Amino acid sequence: MAHYSSGKIECAECGFWENPDALCIDHMNNGGTKHRKEIGGGGLSTYRWLIKNNFPPEYQVLCLNCNWTKEMNHRQHIKTIRDAKYQKYPIC
Ligand SMILES: [Zn+2]
Repeated sequence: MAHYSSGKIECAECGFWENPDALCIDHMNNGGTKHRKEIGGGGLSTYRWLIKNNFPPEYQVLCLNCNWTKEMNHRQHIKTIRDAKYQKYPIC
Protein backbone atom coordinates (compact mmCIF):
# COMPACT_ATOMS: atom_id res chain seq x y z
CA MET A 1 0.00 0.00 0.00
CA ALA A 2 2.65 2.50 1.05
CA HIS A 3 4.26 2.12 -2.37
CA TYR A 4 1.36 3.88 -4.11
CA SER A 5 1.23 6.91 -1.85
CA SER A 6 4.93 7.78 -1.88
CA GLY A 7 5.59 6.18 1.48
CA LYS A 8 2.34 7.38 3.04
CA ILE A 9 -0.80 5.30 2.89
CA GLU A 10 -3.52 7.70 1.78
CA CYS A 11 -6.19 8.19 -0.86
CA ALA A 12 -4.77 9.38 -4.19
CA GLU A 13 -7.85 11.59 -4.73
CA CYS A 14 -8.59 13.31 -1.43
CA GLY A 15 -5.63 12.40 0.79
CA PHE A 16 -7.79 10.55 3.32
CA TRP A 17 -5.61 8.39 5.58
CA GLU A 18 -7.27 8.36 9.04
CA ASN A 19 -8.70 4.87 8.59
CA PRO A 20 -6.59 2.40 6.58
CA ASP A 21 -9.55 -0.01 6.58
CA ALA A 22 -11.41 2.48 4.37
CA LEU A 23 -8.64 2.45 1.76
CA CYS A 24 -8.40 0.07 -1.14
CA ILE A 25 -6.31 -0.62 -4.22
CA ASP A 26 -8.02 0.65 -7.36
CA HIS A 27 -7.26 -0.29 -10.94
CA MET A 28 -7.13 2.94 -12.92
CA ASN A 29 -8.85 1.44 -15.98
CA ASN A 30 -11.79 0.06 -14.00
CA GLY A 31 -10.61 -3.48 -14.67
CA GLY A 32 -10.35 -4.34 -11.00
CA THR A 33 -13.15 -6.84 -10.73
CA LYS A 34 -12.14 -8.79 -13.80
CA HIS A 35 -8.54 -8.78 -12.67
CA ARG A 36 -9.46 -9.93 -9.16
CA LYS A 37 -11.14 -12.94 -10.75
CA GLU A 38 -8.04 -13.66 -12.80
CA ILE A 39 -5.71 -13.69 -9.82
CA GLY A 40 -8.24 -15.49 -7.61
CA GLY A 41 -10.02 -13.39 -5.01
CA GLY A 42 -9.74 -9.85 -3.75
CA GLY A 43 -8.28 -8.27 -0.65
CA LEU A 44 -5.06 -9.85 0.55
CA SER A 45 -4.44 -11.87 -2.60
CA THR A 46 -4.55 -8.62 -4.60
CA TYR A 47 -1.86 -7.11 -2.37
CA ARG A 48 0.23 -10.27 -2.60
CA TRP A 49 -0.14 -10.23 -6.37
CA LEU A 50 0.91 -6.56 -6.48
CA ILE A 51 4.00 -7.24 -4.40
CA LYS A 52 4.85 -10.29 -6.49
CA ASN A 53 4.52 -8.25 -9.70
CA ASN A 54 6.57 -5.35 -8.33
CA PHE A 55 3.62 -2.91 -8.04
CA PRO A 56 2.33 -2.26 -11.60
CA PRO A 57 1.87 1.53 -12.06
CA GLU A 58 -1.75 1.32 -13.28
CA TYR A 59 -2.97 0.83 -9.71
CA GLN A 60 -3.62 3.51 -7.09
CA VAL A 61 -4.79 3.80 -3.49
CA LEU A 62 -8.30 5.22 -3.09
CA CYS A 63 -10.56 5.56 -0.08
CA LEU A 64 -13.91 3.80 -0.38
CA ASN A 65 -15.63 7.16 -0.90
CA CYS A 66 -13.51 8.15 -3.88
CA ASN A 67 -13.60 4.62 -5.25
CA TRP A 68 -17.40 4.71 -5.14
CA THR A 69 -17.53 8.21 -6.64
CA LYS A 70 -15.22 7.09 -9.43
CA GLU A 71 -17.44 4.08 -10.12
CA MET A 72 -20.53 6.34 -10.22
CA ASN A 73 -18.79 8.80 -12.56
CA HIS A 74 -17.82 5.91 -14.80
CA ARG A 75 -21.42 4.70 -14.99
CA GLN A 76 -22.65 8.26 -15.58
CA HIS A 77 -20.10 8.56 -18.38
CA ILE A 78 -21.35 5.37 -20.04
CA LYS A 79 -24.94 6.59 -19.64
CA THR A 80 -24.04 9.94 -21.26
CA ILE A 81 -22.52 8.14 -24.25
CA ARG A 82 -25.65 5.99 -24.54
CA ASP A 83 -27.96 9.00 -24.29
CA ALA A 84 -25.96 10.78 -26.98
CA LYS A 85 -26.33 7.76 -29.23
CA TYR A 86 -30.08 7.65 -28.71
CA GLN A 87 -30.32 11.32 -29.58
CA LYS A 88 -28.41 10.71 -32.76
CA TYR A 89 -30.46 7.65 -33.68
CA PRO A 90 -33.88 8.10 -32.05
CA ILE A 91 -35.85 4.94 -31.44
CA CYS A 92 -39.41 5.31 -32.74
ZN1 LIG B 1 -10.55 9.63 -1.14
